[in-house]
Amino acid sequence: MSQDHDESAAGVSLTKREFLKTAGLAAAAFGLAGASRGAEAANDARWDLIVVGGGNAGLPTAIFAAQRGARVLVVEAAGALGGTLFLSSGQMSAAGTQLQKSMGIEDSWQLHYDDVMRISTGTADPTLVRLAVQNAAPAFDWLTDHGFKVREGHPVTGTTHDPYSRPRYAWGYEGGRSILKVLNEQLQPLVDAGKVTVLLQTQVTGLVQERDGAVGGVTTQDAKGATARHLGRYVALTCGGYTENAAMYEKYEGVKDYCKMTYPFSQGAGYDLAVAAGGYVRGGENHVPLFGAVTLDYDYPAPMMANARHYPGDRPPWEIYVNRFGKRFICEDMLSHTEYERGLGAQPDERCWAVFDDAMYRAMPPLLGGGFNGPWTAKDTAEAFESGAPNFFRADTLEGLATAAGVDPAGLAATVETFNAAQAGKRRDPFGRKHMPAPIARAPFYAIRIQSWNLTSYAGVAVDEQLRVIRKDGRPIRNLYAAGELLGMGQLMGRLLGHSILDFGA
Ligand SMILES: Cc1cc2nc3c(=O)[nH]c(=O)nc-3n(C[C@H](O)[C@H](O)[C@H](O)COP(=O)(O)OP(=O)(O)OC[C@H]3O[C@@H](n4cnc5c(N)ncnc54)[C@H](O)[C@@H]3O)c2cc1C
Repeated sequence: MSQDHDESAAGVSLTKREFLKTAGLAAAAFGLAGASRGAEAANDARWDLIVVGGGNAGLPTAIFAAQRGARVLVVEAAGALGGTLFLSSGQMSAAGTQLQKSMGIEDSWQLHYDDVMRISTGTADPTLVRLAVQNAAPAFDWLTDHGFKVREGHPVTGTTHDPYSRPRYAWGYEGGRSILKVLNEQLQPLVDAGKVTVLLQTQVTGLVQERDGAVGGVTTQDAKGATARHLGRYVALTCGGYTENAAMYEKYEGVKDYCKMTYPFSQGAGYDLAVAAGGYVRGGENHVPLFGAVTLDYDYPAPMMANARHYPGDRPPWEIYVNRFGKRFICEDMLSHTEYERGLGAQPDERCWAVFDDAMYRAMPPLLGGGFNGPWTAKDTAEAFESGAPNFFRADTLEGLATAAGVDPAGLAATVETFNAAQAGKRRDPFGRKHMPAPIARAPFYAIRIQSWNLTSYAGVAVDEQLRVIRKDGRPIRNLYAAGELLGMGQLMGRLLGHSILDFGA
């Protein structure tokens, strides 16, 4: 597994799996008793700003507004502030930072912008990307000025997504929690001074809207089921994405959500709130999946069990990848995450199979690495094949393998024949692959079913350059703002992954 998704790097006391289980129970049991800070006062007050969701986007919104004199209410559905930062790897990209300057790295927001538009092949929203990259360095510098410790050796150009032209990626020692630590430290004095009030285990259920459409507050339901109305001059929707809401995922991105591993409260509440107020959602057409999930079950969405180490820069490939027609669809040794991701995204059900033979199985570097569920070893792979775990297939013939795995046998036979001929130097590989250390020839034959997965929501609430939620005709809904993952990676990054975190700077 790549370094920014490394469990040990997150340095957390609970494994991500344990954390997800606990938070998932909390999300499911929403409505049980819990503590709320400042709940009594909130009901009568008229706030300058109501922040819906206290995560990576909401906390800085609250901090900066309060520091400028606003009276702020933060309403948070979970029992703790932080949102996805509890799970996130916390990889940030920012150009022209103090850190880069101190290392003699010349960079600018313009170069950052050019990279994003190049890697996303022009699919990202130019206005939002410009806003994000122009504010990324000040946001990153703010973090480091307030105690955020950057990992030794950073910034880097990056290996988990297609690299930037400059070393621009950096993250802390404890993943997203390093960021959360700084945010909490900045928030606490404001809470103590009564400038920010936080309601935990309280979800926003609706927006208070005037006849003319202007937003003037929120309605909430707390952990005991009590409902309330909170009035405010402005409302900021910062309640994250919908990656835990399979129906919404499919509705906005047009594909199924196969792998479940994000923050349980990422239920897409902000999308419904914005749409109900007159806003709309866009960017889902830019959906790109991540490559390589081996899930615990056939049913979806299922938890991730392990992750294919497919990136040729980390592990040159021995296996081939085929779709359900038994056909290859990618040059397996191409040094591009994007090609892998788009390649898988174009296959039926965003699914493929890694196919290899017994000689490869014994000689190649392990194909599966640990994922978010902890380390995964070659012994684990052997046990998965032995026990007949879902998604692991083995057979004495290629035909038997194809039948067991759900791949077209004739297609697979033809593909393997062509691959072996290219491997033996008898013909050119149709995909131009160079790294082919062995043929697929010796029984038993193996296949591992690989599925797409995702960490972020691609579709987002439409906003203008001031982050005001807008209607389809472009008119802003008065007093309603949105930020963070709720804007959707399809707008912020287009068909590219990697800089969602610093969008709070925008
Ligand atoms: C495992 C993992 C690794 C990642 N790694 C990276 C990375 O390296 N780099 C990167 O850029 N991005 C990464 N991401 C994505 C990134 O972490 C998120 O996009 C970002 O943290 C989202 O911030 P947010 O504030 O918009 O939403 P969130 O952090 O999800 O916060 C939203 C908050 O709103 C609350 N909420 C939801 N509904 C309601 C409601 N109705 N009422 C009140 N509160 C509500 C939630 O409980 C939550 O606290 C990763 C994501 C995951 C899951």
